[in-house]
Amino acid sequence: MKRVLYPGSFDPITKGHMNIIEEASYLFDEVIVGILENSMKKNKMFTLEERLEMIDELYKNNNNIIVISSTQSAVDVALEYECQAIIRGIRNIRDYDYELALQEINRELSNNEIKTVCLFAKKEYQNISSTLVKELLRLEKDPSNYIDPSIKEKILLKRKQKNE
Ligand code: ADP
Repeated sequence: MKRVLYPGSFDPITKGHMNIIEEASYLFDEVIVGILENSMKKNKMFTLEERLEMIDELYKNNNNIIVISSTQSAVDVALEYECQAIIRGIRNIRDYDYELALQEINRELSNNEIKTVCLFAKKEYQNISSTLVKELLRLEKDPSNYIDPSIKEKILLKRKQKNE
């Protein structure tokens, strides 16, 4: 059984992330979506628990997509869940450079056990990022083109609760 970990911040999950998950679930027997902390990304919109709830809801009917959250490193999570590889998405040359460095570190940290598989973003998702979605929300603009409707609902609900 080929199992792969797709680690990321997913703050929030975008249509670009969802496309990578869909393609990975076609290529592998099982995809673990791992919501992890990224200390380089400071402005968190959602807690790990909130992100878990949102993404879990999206994939509750797909039995080869499992959603987890962890404060461990991607390599440790991949080893714990007996994944053969980590999946990452590449939109542009900046992502490529970053992923190139990261895969080398992950290879070393796992004693060559965990490989990285990169999937390229579809053209229509190349400019989508969680940062862009957060910026649109901050400016009170509609991010509907970039996120699933259920995620938008959750964001609006959180806003409402915050303002109450
Ligand atoms: P991280 O904090 O680990 O970079 P992200 O949630 O920003 O987490 O992204 C997780 C992975 O998904 C990364 O490999 C990133 O390059 C990729 N990714 C992000 N947005 C897209 C997109 N629109 N299309 C394809 N891949 C994407």
